[in-house]
Amino acid sequence: DAAVDPILVVRGLHKHFGGIKAADGVDLEVGRCEIAGLIGPNGSGKSTLFSLVSGTVAPDKGEVRFDGRDIAGQNAYKVARLGLARTFQIPALFDNMTVTENLLAAAAEGHWPGAHERAAETLALLKLEHVADNRASDLSGGQQKLLEFGRVIMRQASLILLDEVTAGVHPNIRKIILEAIAKLRERGVSFLIIEHDMEMVRSVCDRIIVMDSGRVVTSGPFEEIVRNSEVMKTYLGR
Ligand code: ADP
Ligand code: MG
Repeated sequence: DAAVDPILVVRGLHKHFGGIKAADGVDLEVGRCEIAGLIGPNGSGKSTLFSLVSGTVAPDKGEVRFDGRDIAGQNAYKVARLGLARTFQIPALFDNMTVTENLLAAAAEGHWPGAHERAAETLALLKLEHVADNRASDLSGGQQKLLEFGRVIMRQASLILLDEVTAGVHPNIRKIILEAIAKLRERGVSFLIIEHDMEMVRSVCDRIIVMDSGRVVTSGPFEEIVRNSEVMKTYLGR
């Protein structure tokens, strides 16, 4: 339950880029084993929130508590070691390495024990076995998104932030991603997911968080959110 024992708590988070208030007092929680969807128009600050939480951008002010620890302003490497991992909108892969090597490299940045077994499990979970020895640069765009997700899985995170992993991918790959999210949640992983596809949001997310202009404007179950015409106008860009 997000309200009782959240894995992530964000309070009053601010980040300005010159005159742009990318985060303008963000407040939100993600519960343990929850799959929370983050939606909002382009430029509303969703990816910036991921960067602030995961340590790739330092906040101007505000609180970020992950699993009871204050991580605001900690560097990305340290945050990842604590068990919080993110994907990037544009996959950050090692192009000249194979799929398996990309997975092992992600483990080497964090939890090495059992890495080869985990790589095999991750290849199976994401149905990438048949391209295990292909170079990352030879994968399709959708397969690169799968591999980006696989690299996060290899870090054995307890909270995973996914930034538009299903954008523009084939429905078959979208299905693989959905099933992997559900399986990982059964194993105790929590998710915060930036997603534009409302069908995907409806089918996978327990709760929707809506951002606009650097703030969370509302959150609740999908049906409740789509029934709120003000929110939908905001989401659809007025
Ligand atoms: P979203 O992911 O919701 O589309 P972003 O978080 O990418 O939104 O961007 C929020 C706002 O912050 C936008 O106006 C964007 O142009 C601006 N922004 C994001 N990152 C930077 C940056 N590194 N430097 C300057 N402006 C930025
Ligand atoms: Mg974005």
